[in-house]
Order: sequence, then C-alpha cells, then structure tokens
Amino acid sequence: MPPMADIIAPQAAAALLAELVRCPSVTPLAGPAGQGPYGEGRYAALLGDRLAALGASVEFREVEPGRPNLIARFDGPAGSPSVMFEAHSDTVAVDGMTVDPFAAEVRDGRLYGRGACDTKAAMAAMLLAVQSVLAADGGLRATVYVVSTCGEEITGLGAKALVGDGFFAGGRVDAAIVGEPTDLDIIHASKGSGRFHIETRGKAAHSSAPADGVNAIYQMAHIVAAIERDVAAALAAMADPVLGSPTVSVGTIRGGSQVNIVPDACTIDVDTRLIPGQTFQTMAALIHGVLDRSRAARGDLQYVIHNRPAYPAFFIDGDAPLPVLVARACREVLGRSTLRAAPWASNAGIFAEAGVPSVLVGPGSIAQAHTCDEFVEIDQVVQAAKLYAAIIRAYGGAGAPATGARGE
Ligand SMILES: [Zn+2]
Repeated sequence: MPPMADIIAPQAAAALLAELVRCPSVTPLAGPAGQGPYGEGRYAALLGDRLAALGASVEFREVEPGRPNLIARFDGPAGSPSVMFEAHSDTVAVDGMTVDPFAAEVRDGRLYGRGACDTKAAMAAMLLAVQSVLAADGGLRATVYVVSTCGEEITGLGAKALVGDGFFAGGRVDAAIVGEPTDLDIIHASKGSGRFHIETRGKAAHSSAPADGVNAIYQMAHIVAAIERDVAAALAAMADPVLGSPTVSVGTIRGGSQVNIVPDACTIDVDTRLIPGQTFQTMAALIHGVLDRSRAARGDLQYVIHNRPAYPAFFIDGDAPLPVLVARACREVLGRSTLRAAPWASNAGIFAEAGVPSVLVGPGSIAQAHTCDEFVEIDQVVQAAKLYAAIIRAYGGAGAPATGARGE
C-alpha cells in the first residue's frame, strides 16, 4: 500500500471526490428515486464498493425504495471503542446551477459540483482517513463505522430510520463525527426545527352576500395574528445561553379562488426553531394552546393543525470527552481548534437524541452549500482527511472517551 502521504494528498482527494460528485444523488423531491439524478441508491452502491475494497463489512438498509442507508464497519480489536463517521448521501436539487453539477470540474484548487461541499467532501475525507490509518498502522485500535444516510435534506429521513431500526441499540456506537461543511470548526450546538401546516375551513358564498358564507381567510387572519403576538412572545421569553431564543415564522399563506367568492379554505405553513431542552412536543403544545385560546375567545374559529416534526435541537458540552478529543486532534493537525454553534440543524441532533455523543466537523463552508456554483477547496478535503485520521487514532488510544452527551 502507498504511504499515508500519498493517500491523503490533493490529487488523491480530488480524484476520489470527483468520482463521488459524478455520481448524482439528488434528494428525490422533484422526481422518483432511480430516475434521472434522483435518489441515493447509485451513490450508496459506489461508496459500498469503495469501502468493501478497503476491507469493510458493508450493509445496505433500504429506507424507501431505491433509498438505502449505507453502513460500513471496520473492526477494531474485541472490546475496543467504536466511532461512527457519518456524512449524508443526498444533495439538494441542481436547478439554476451555473456550473455543470456532475462534471467535478477543478479550477484554482477548488472542485465544483452539486454535493462537492455538502457533503461529499466529508465522505471523501472519511474514506481517505480510514485508508491511510489502515495502510500506515496496519490495522485499527477502534471499531470504525462509516455511515451514509439518505434523505438528510428531507429532515433526516435516513438518520431517523437508523435510530428507528435499532442501529444504536446496546451502545454499539460510542461517538459520532458528523461530516457537514463547517470550515473544519467543531459544531457542538444547533437549533432544531419543526413545522406546522394549519388549515381553516369556511363556507363559500357569493361575495355580494358575505353573511351567507364563512370567510376562511378572516379565520386565518386571527390565527396568524395569534402566532405573531402570543407564540412569538412566549418564545422570546425563553433563551439558551449559546443559541438564543426559539423562533416562529409564518412562511406561506394560500387561500381563496376568486375575488367575488367568499373563500372556504385557507392554509398556512409555520416554521419554528427549537433550542436545546425544548422538544417538538413542547413547541406543539405551545402553538396548540395559543390557538385553543383564540378559538375560545372567538367561538367560530375552525381549524386543523398538522404537526411536522423535523430536527431536534443539538447540544453537547464543549468540555465533554468527545469535543475535547476532537479539539485536540484539530490543534494537532490544523494548528487551531474552534468550537462554535451553528444556526442550521443536522443529523447530529438525531444521533445525540438517540444517546450518541456527537459533534459536527467537516471540510468546506456552509456559504457554498446549496449554491449555484457549489465548490470545496481541495486543500480543506486534505486537511479534513488528516483530521479524521487523527481522530480515529485518538479514539483507539488510551483514555478515549466513551460517553459525553447531555440528554435532551
Ligand atoms: Zn449537508
């Protein structure tokens, strides 16, 4: 096998990442999995081949047709700790991109394409890291899982399935490193999110005789006002020392069909952001409570709320064993370590909620994720691979942490 310097080198990193970018895995919202660029199946199969070639036991767990979670296991010595490296397999859509989304073009040290930054760069770095440690050390001192979940861009579909099918049961995984574009900063906290779809139902009538109908838009106006006034005020009174207050925002409103008809239906979509310690259930209880009181005050308010939980909030103490270990590896490899919160939610919240100490760290900047000219600096992929290799080594070393999550 080639020495570590050759494995984790710009050329090797660019070649591997190009292979991943050229294999489309657009999250299937605008088309079914397996058709055109949609679905994670081909990409998971490609990763499975690469990981099997490195000696991993590879397993696919289908979450939806053509949409598997990929789990690759590299065994350490019996009884050794286990660390999971996870980077989601799906990307956002490619509409409006100004670069070829699947050409993996390299210019000025950057590799361009959909997923180059979010988050195939992290997956490429994870593969290089395992390969280099195996080659240089002749084996692993910890069991290493490399996992790629589907549907992260659809509120963590694959990560939730992984939890749901018992993957983490029995303490199988001691810690999780989640690869997302963090500029190699360590993310230890982020808000969660949850959505509500609310419908009002009225009665249509000719607009010349509005008293004959029930105006669903007027009904919704009261609900929107109650959310803006009462829900927002209640959330503003809560605060997390790192992330600030939870928030609410009405994002869409639709109602009525024609100006001369009293509208019989109106809908809104409401986005909420949660802080650690706050669950989707407590947010739902707050919103339902405020609207119940509005209904009681008005009498004729008729509505239906559909709850749509998304991501739990995420928090691990910066002084817990896992962030401390990762920070040490960052200083060793990068000469710096930055611990911070992020405004965006991720799979880390889902893993942490399942009791797995987790942090996010990965190459690329969130500023380039989901953009029309998405790219990653190849040098950051190299740095990330070195960092992940240092974490694998540290995890198997003496005094490696086994726990550290704060339960939410
Ligand atoms: Zn991502």
